[in-house]
Amino acid sequence: MHELSIAHSLVEIAIEAADNAGMKEVKSLYLKLGALSGVVKEALEFSFDVVIEGTPLEGARLIIEDVPVKVFCPDCQEAHILPEPFPMRCPECGTKTGEVLEGREMELYALEGGEGDA
Ligand SMILES: [Zn+2]
Repeated sequence: MHELSIAHSLVEIAIEAADNAGMKEVKSLYLKLGALSGVVKEALEFSFDVVIEGTPLEGARLIIEDVPVKVFCPDCQEAHILPEPFPMRCPECGTKTGEVLEGREMELYALEGGEGDA
């Protein structure tokens, strides 16, 4: 399963980041997940819970923020958020666009420490 290896690398990154920040315990991990990232959110949450067992992150929660697809429309000359990832058309004027500004990312953007941390 694709998500399992992603969860593995997330956990590795988080452990290293927590270490660098001097966190003894990580309570929550905050992840931005784009609608076009190709990652299934539920599968990632499940994999995360499996992967953290026996690691310093055991008991931590993965909090996923969904990032919608944002495209740039050459006709409107504006960025628009798509209500659905597909079809990739401007929601205002219907012009097809492949210019994706946001929605592909998978980014661990914050860690929250446990009670023991100052
Ligand atoms: Zn448009």
